[in-house]
Amino acid sequence: MPIAIVAERTGGPEILRRIELPTPAADAGQVLVKHTAIGVNFIDTYFRSGLYPWPVDRDLILGSEAAGVVLALGENVDGFSVGDRVAYTIPNGAYVQTRAIDAKHLVKLPDAVSDEVAAAAMLKGLTAHYLLHRSYLPKKGQTVLFHAAAGGVGLIAGQWLAAKGVTAIGTAGGPEKCALAAKHGYAHVIDYRAENFEERVKEITGGAGVDAVYDSVGKDTIAGSMACLKTFGTLVNFGQSSGPYLDFKLSDLAAGSFTVTRPVLFHFTADRNYLETASADLFEMIQNRTLQIKINQRYSLANAADAHRALEGRKTTGSTVLIP
Ligand code: NDP
Repeated sequence: MPIAIVAERTGGPEILRRIELPTPAADAGQVLVKHTAIGVNFIDTYFRSGLYPWPVDRDLILGSEAAGVVLALGENVDGFSVGDRVAYTIPNGAYVQTRAIDAKHLVKLPDAVSDEVAAAAMLKGLTAHYLLHRSYLPKKGQTVLFHAAAGGVGLIAGQWLAAKGVTAIGTAGGPEKCALAAKHGYAHVIDYRAENFEERVKEITGGAGVDAVYDSVGKDTIAGSMACLKTFGTLVNFGQSSGPYLDFKLSDLAAGSFTVTRPVLFHFTADRNYLETASADLFEMIQNRTLQIKINQRYSLANAADAHRALEGRKTTGSTVLIP
C-alpha cells in the first residue's frame, strides 16, 4: 500500500509518523497522481509545530508541493491524460506516494523541467514570481534587500532579480551560505549572523537605503529591515523562520511613509489564470537557464523528519526534496 507521513498533533519533527493508506480513487474533477518527487518547505514546519492553525479535524498529512505522473482520471477532467507529467502547489497533503487531487491545481510539465526540479520549484519559484511581480515590482536600477538569500526561495529570487537588472543585497547565515548566494544573483551578501545587516546596507547604499525589503525571517529582522528602507520604501513580509514579529504598529510606517504587505502564495495561485501564466514564466526561466534550481538536499519520504530537522536547524541551502 502507498505510504504517507502524518502528524497526529503539533510538535517537533519526532511526531512525524509513517502510515500506509489505500490507493485513493479519483473522484469527479480529480486526477490520480503517483508522486515522483515532493518538495519540503518551511511552511511544512509551521503547520507541524502549530505556528499555523491545524487545518483539518484529523491527522495532518504535510507537504505543499509535488510532481508526479497521472495514473487515472476521474469524470469530467479535461486537459490531462494518463501518463502526463504534472506538478502542483497547494497547502498540505503532499507527503504521500499516491494522491487524488483536483485537476484545477495541476500544471503539465515541459520535457526540459524534470520532476525533481518541478517539486523543488513550484512553491518556491512561484513565490519568487509573485514577490517580484505582484507584491513589489522592482525596476532595473533599483536596490532591494532579500533575507535568507541562500534558502530555497532566496536562491531563486536572487537569480530572478539579477535577470531584471535589480541590485540585490542578500543576507545569509555563515560564509558558505554567503558564497552560495553571491553565485546566484546577489550583488552584495551580508552574513547577518556575524555583521549588523542594517549598518552594512547603509554602507553599501551610501546611506540611501533600499527600495524594498523581502523579509521571511520575521522576529529577528523586521525592525532592522524597516530601518533599511528609503522614504516611500516597501516592506514585504512573507514568512517568519525565526518566529513571528509581534511588535509591529501601523505608526512604524510613518518613519518613511512606508508600504507594508504580508502576502501568501496560495491567494495568488487560487486564480487559475495566474497559476498557468506564472508557471509558464517559471518553466521558461528554467528552460532558458536564467534560473538554476539547486536541489541541495534529498531524503526518502520516510525520512521527512530528518528533512525538517535540517531545515529548522538552518543546515540547508536551496531546495530540499523527498523521494517517495
Ligand atoms: P529556506 O530554505 O529559506 O529556509 C529558511 C531559512 O531561514 C534558513 O535556512 C535560515 O537561513 C533562515 N533563518 C533565519 N533565522 C532562522 C531561524 N531562527 N530558524 C530557522 N531558519 C532561520 O526556506 P524556504 O525557502 O522554504 O522558505 C523561506 C521563507 O519564505 C520561509 O519563512 C517561508 O515560510 C516563507 N515562504 C512564504 C511564502 C508565502 O507565500 N508567504 C511562500 C513560500 C515561502 P540562514 O541560515 O541563512 O539565516
